Amino acid sequence: MPDYDFPLKDRFEVAEGTMAFVFETSSDFTFRAGQYVEVFLKNAPYKDEKKDHRDFSITSSPQDKGILMVATRMTGSAFKRSFAEVPIGTISKIEGPFGDFGLHENPNRKAVLIAGGIGITPLRSIIKDATERKLPHKITLIYSNRNKEGAPFLKDLEGWERENPNFKLCPRMTDKEGHVDADFIKKSSGDLANTTFYMVGPLGMVAAMAKLLEELKISRDDMRFEEFSGY
Ligand SMILES: Cc1cc2nc3c(=O)[nH]c(=O)nc-3n(C[C@H](O)[C@H](O)[C@H](O)COP(=O)(O)OP(=O)(O)OC[C@H]3O[C@@H](n4cnc5c(N)ncnc54)[C@H](O)[C@@H]3O)c2cc1C
Repeated sequence: MPDYDFPLKDRFEVAEGTMAFVFETSSDFTFRAGQYVEVFLKNAPYKDEKKDHRDFSITSSPQDKGILMVATRMTGSAFKRSFAEVPIGTISKIEGPFGDFGLHENPNRKAVLIAGGIGITPLRSIIKDATERKLPHKITLIYSNRNKEGAPFLKDLEGWERENPNFKLCPRMTDKEGHVDADFIKKSSGDLANTTFYMVGPLGMVAAMAKLLEELKISRDDMRFEEFSGY
């Protein structure tokens, strides 16, 4: 499996309790939008009985040359406290990229992306890449969060909606509006035919969304999943 030693270049908050981490990459590192990497922290100041590495979806786009960005909820685990504190410049081992959670090729087929909170990470990469490459695919994002403050990358997504006539953002703030239901999916997606649905997030969230799609009589063949095990 390919692995790389990349220095941490930057880190910053992207929503309440959520941070992005940017690594400087070498020119031989390439990936497709939607893929993930395994991050191994070296010399972590905090340790627990769990693994010293985590899988993270790449949230930067392949068009962002020379960098790789991931983002995560700061749960307070030893790994994440270490990630937040190691000095900028610290080298991490990055394995990958892995996975095949990319946008389908057929431009005549619509994409409806569904994410809750941190599940936005691979979808941000897909949407940014599609916008930068001016892909003709019609893309709708159903993005569920408790409130605006806790919604990672909301401003970026609003910007790409203005820039990309093929991208529609359908945010849902559950504190005020309640959970995403079948009706919201139907209204946001329009005609449900000829559409591939992409769902990302913790296992429970992905399972709940798949159940709503089944209520709408969407075939399993038209659903794709990326599950964040470990949450
Ligand atoms: C393909 C993929 C992409 C992911 N992308 C992201 C992302 O972009 N952002 C993000 O924040 N997280 C992502 N995750 C989840 C991430 O790898 C961590 O598991 C999660 O962030 C919780 O880590 P923690 O240190 O906060 O929790 P902790 O509970 O301290 O640690 C979680 C660790 O415990 C173990 N563990 C606990 N429960 C399980 C379980 N049910 N199944 C398997 N292992 C378990 C694993 O060793 C796991 O790495 C992704 C996971 C996968 C599989």
